[in-house]
Amino acid sequence: MNKKIVLILLISLINDFCYSQKSYSELFTGKMLRLNYTITNYKDSVEAKFVDFSVANKWGGENYVVNNCKKYGIFYMEMIDSCSNNVLYTYSYNSLFSEWLDIDLSKNKSKTYKECVKMPFPKKTCLINVYKLNSKHEYKLILSEYFNPKYDKFKCKTSTTYPYKHIKSSKSKNSINIAILAEGYQKNEKKKFLQSAKEYSERIFETEPYKKYQKLFNVYAVFDESKDNGCDIPNKNIYKNTIMDFSYNTFNMERYVMSENYWAISNVAQSVPYNHIIVLVNSDIYGGGGIYNYYSVFSANNYHSKEVMVHELGHSFAGLDDEYEDNATYNTDIDNKYEILSPNLTNLVEFSSKWEKYIDKSTPIPTPKNSKHKIGVFEGGRYCYKGIYRPCLHCLMHDLETNYYCEICEKIVEETILNQTQNNE
Ligand SMILES: [Zn+2]
Ligand SMILES: [Zn+2]
Repeated sequence: MNKKIVLILLISLINDFCYSQKSYSELFTGKMLRLNYTITNYKDSVEAKFVDFSVANKWGGENYVVNNCKKYGIFYMEMIDSCSNNVLYTYSYNSLFSEWLDIDLSKNKSKTYKECVKMPFPKKTCLINVYKLNSKHEYKLILSEYFNPKYDKFKCKTSTTYPYKHIKSSKSKNSINIAILAEGYQKNEKKKFLQSAKEYSERIFETEPYKKYQKLFNVYAVFDESKDNGCDIPNKNIYKNTIMDFSYNTFNMERYVMSENYWAISNVAQSVPYNHIIVLVNSDIYGGGGIYNYYSVFSANNYHSKEVMVHELGHSFAGLDDEYEDNATYNTDIDNKYEILSPNLTNLVEFSSKWEKYIDKSTPIPTPKNSKHKIGVFEGGRYCYKGIYRPCLHCLMHDLETNYYCEICEKIVEETILNQTQNNE
């Protein structure tokens, strides 16, 4: 055989080997890989910089190949097998940095955030690409990094494992894993935290559609003590030493509780296999926040906290947006060239991609507030009185007096649950 034929045979063999559809367990080790990066905004651009990789013992996300996830976030990540070019994993998310970009202040001020994205740990070399949605509604590449498990695993940081309790277990092969984390609980408050974590976990599964699918959920409570209790309240000059650096007054909004230390939050969460994070802040002052595929947080000792939690979970779990009108700190300019990303709101640019299929054909669009139709297209949402429309007048994403999701939000959460659990290997 001449050399050329040998080469052709060899290439076709490699191609066959690469292109054959592999199962999850052939592609991944079962551990979790995390890519840490920083991201900074400038006047007309953003810059992301790779920092390092870290590894955790157990991956808690989908145990099948997710090569085309829903894009509800402004960030989109894909992991590509560098041999076959097959997409092995995709993930869409928002972050505190994406919230920062929505604040008017960011137009004249640069700020750097520490971010990360988690993924299943690959057995072979992969290319990891991170994209961000630009003003023309295109996902543009902002970060690209190869990961070679053979060599890079020695460079990966391994994080500490904090004590945890498995407070709700699922027998399902494809489960959804929630990590409840303790912020601002001192050493002697572990029992208090575990009791709250249990009560909040129970509250989730009293709400549809989580209730209907409760058998699919695992819930873990992870405890690490903080030196002080509570968290920062800058407008009252209160600063606390806590493990995840949470603070009220984020972006000068009194009750908006967030942390700029996402690496610390992820470090605590990865003590358990997780794909969703809920943080309990040991405080009785009303407040919270929730960002899509990032985390939910709220003060655990406030009277309204259970409703706040389910509202924030709507944001972080399913990408639901706020349905209320407000005089907001957020930039409320509506770009009417493109349909908005959130699944439960529309600016009517491409309503067919939203809940159109669920509304009665005789429903007027927009729908007047005194309409007999319960599901429609009602004006007002995401802090705007005009130009943005929501599916129902009442919903937990609109007001806390309504302690359930509207029919459309319920369907969106249900779709998320099914997407994350339906594929059996
Ligand atoms: Zn909200
Ligand atoms: Zn709703």
